[in-house]
Amino acid sequence: MADIFTKEKRRLIMQSVRRQGTKPENRVAAVLKARNLTFEQQTSHLPGRPDFLFADAKTVLFVHGCFWHGHNRCRKGVVLSQTDPQYWIAKIERNQQRDRRVARKLRSLGYKVYTVWECQIGKDHVPTRILKPLLQAES
Ligand SMILES: [Zn+2]
Repeated sequence: MADIFTKEKRRLIMQSVRRQGTKPENRVAAVLKARNLTFEQQTSHLPGRPDFLFADAKTVLFVHGCFWHGHNRCRKGVVLSQTDPQYWIAKIERNQQRDRRVARKLRSLGYKVYTVWECQIGKDHVPTRILKPLLQAES
């Protein structure tokens, strides 16, 4: 069946569908945009591919899933009774080690490194503690 929309229209529709995704980093992106912050999301040239790069402020922001990155004292970060808890504990510990290594590397390159956890992000909310340094760096 032929598409009832032109190519361009279809592209715009698909874009808006993606924008409505509820992934934590998309919610963070929406909040940052609402605050008129300038950022990049394609950061594969940086160690650990940070979720957000604020180039002018030489600042990066990671949005971490609580489970995969082992958020301390967080309900979502707790390894639940899995069939093989040792496997998951080891895997998440490796992720945490990598996160620390990446952060050290970025700092040694002169970047300020911030992390926001999945559980800290509301529907359209990012903690002020996280936004403050970014807003200050911009002004
Ligand atoms: Zn958490």
